[in-house]
Amino acid sequence: MTHSPDEPLLPRPQGAAPFVHLKIDETQDEADLRALIRDVLRDKATPDRIREFDENEKFDEDLYRTLADAGLIQLEADTEGNPPSHMSQTIVLEELGATATSMAVSLVVQYMGVTLLAQHGTAEQRKQYLVPLLSGRSRVAFALTEPGGGTDVARVMRTRATQESDGTWKLSGSKMWISGASDATFLLVLARTAPIERSAISGITMFIVPRSASGVTVNEMDTMAIHSLSTCEVGLSDVRVPHDAVLGEVNWGFRQVLATLNGERLNAAAVALGIARGAQDAALEYVRSREAFGRTIGSFQILQHRLVDGVVRLEGARSLLQRAARAADHGGAAETLSAMAKLAASEAATMITDHGMRAMGGSGLSREYSMQRFFRDARLYTFAPLTDEMIHNFIAEHHFKLPRSY
Ligand SMILES: Cc1cc2nc3c(=O)[nH]c(=O)nc-3n(C[C@H](O)[C@H](O)[C@H](O)COP(=O)(O)OP(=O)(O)OC[C@H]3O[C@@H](n4cnc5c(N)ncnc54)[C@H](O)[C@@H]3O)c2cc1C
Repeated sequence: MTHSPDEPLLPRPQGAAPFVHLKIDETQDEADLRALIRDVLRDKATPDRIREFDENEKFDEDLYRTLADAGLIQLEADTEGNPPSHMSQTIVLEELGATATSMAVSLVVQYMGVTLLAQHGTAEQRKQYLVPLLSGRSRVAFALTEPGGGTDVARVMRTRATQESDGTWKLSGSKMWISGASDATFLLVLARTAPIERSAISGITMFIVPRSASGVTVNEMDTMAIHSLSTCEVGLSDVRVPHDAVLGEVNWGFRQVLATLNGERLNAAAVALGIARGAQDAALEYVRSREAFGRTIGSFQILQHRLVDGVVRLEGARSLLQRAARAADHGGAAETLSAMAKLAASEAATMITDHGMRAMGGSGLSREYSMQRFFRDARLYTFAPLTDEMIHNFIAEHHFKLPRSY
């Protein structure tokens, strides 16, 4: 049987719904949470509004306040020291990742601040910093990475804090690539407080530093992605804070952060999964309407196969993420699963946004479409909070018990 070029091999979709998603396996509470965030985003994060904020490189304060008012920053967290569940965080972040990606990145940082304050804050610190954070009246930035590097930051850390005779601390140094620092109310700053002896991760302390403290300078950096959230250099020049600005234990700050890293990997995976889903939907919509050779480009086998490869990656990443988040919520050993989920989601997002750009031809570069933003934003979670190369190292070492390769 032969086909004329005008005759599609597969029937053209006739007004079919462009969005095809597998049913997500979740509890009624989880489904309700997903429905709530979708409702908020339908009203407050229209494609035009997201594009406007991305192009103007502005943070959407109004959307942030709406999310906070809907309880989506607090989730199940309370002021007694209980952080939100991992499942809830990942649901909110996936939905934001698929629409307002920069806001998703901001919430990854807020959830990290909430978790660190809930787990390590004194009653007074929780009252002063956690309560306004949960209600959206303040925002936090997390300042770990330095100009000397992020992957090996404990070893290369130059930021120092020394204790004065009156008990106060004096911080000096610089931090780089700090999300949302220009708009933050306070920063969680990691500084070296004791020289490296046996292990580089010891001797580092976490401080709560008001953004307005004397000696703190913040400069916004020019980046190609995550445009609706600032990325900043932070200078600390003899910044004085009282002793009760120490969050957790002196010299144990980096270990405290490492203990929250599992949750951050899950959250990074959730945003990447959202980006993958948003880009997949955008690609599907495009290939169903664009025509070439007298048929929709969605009837060409190579574009169909790429979409299929993408959705298989996406659903694989979703399964890993759900397993990891549920295991973490039930106190199980979730580190390896979380690392796998982060890698799978970042690879799904990278592949789907690349295929999406190809499917759209020249339109891929047009700012009218969201694909170029997804393509740019997807890059973040290939290296943050931990690079995919280091995730490979982690899985090789912890899953296969192979010797550490570095
Ligand atoms: C938009 C944006 C937002 C960010 N937000 C924050 C924030 O809010 N707070 C914060 O503290 N940081 C933030 N970061 C920093 C981010 O966490 C770091 O970029 C990340 O940790 C990687 O560090 P690096 O960029 O210094 O890369 P490097 O550490 O210099 O690594 C460079 C390359 O070397 C590879 N490499 C290094 N060591 C090994 C090894 N042993 N084996 C194999 N490969 C290796 C890496 O995988 C990578 O490919 C942000 C960065 C960006 C761009």
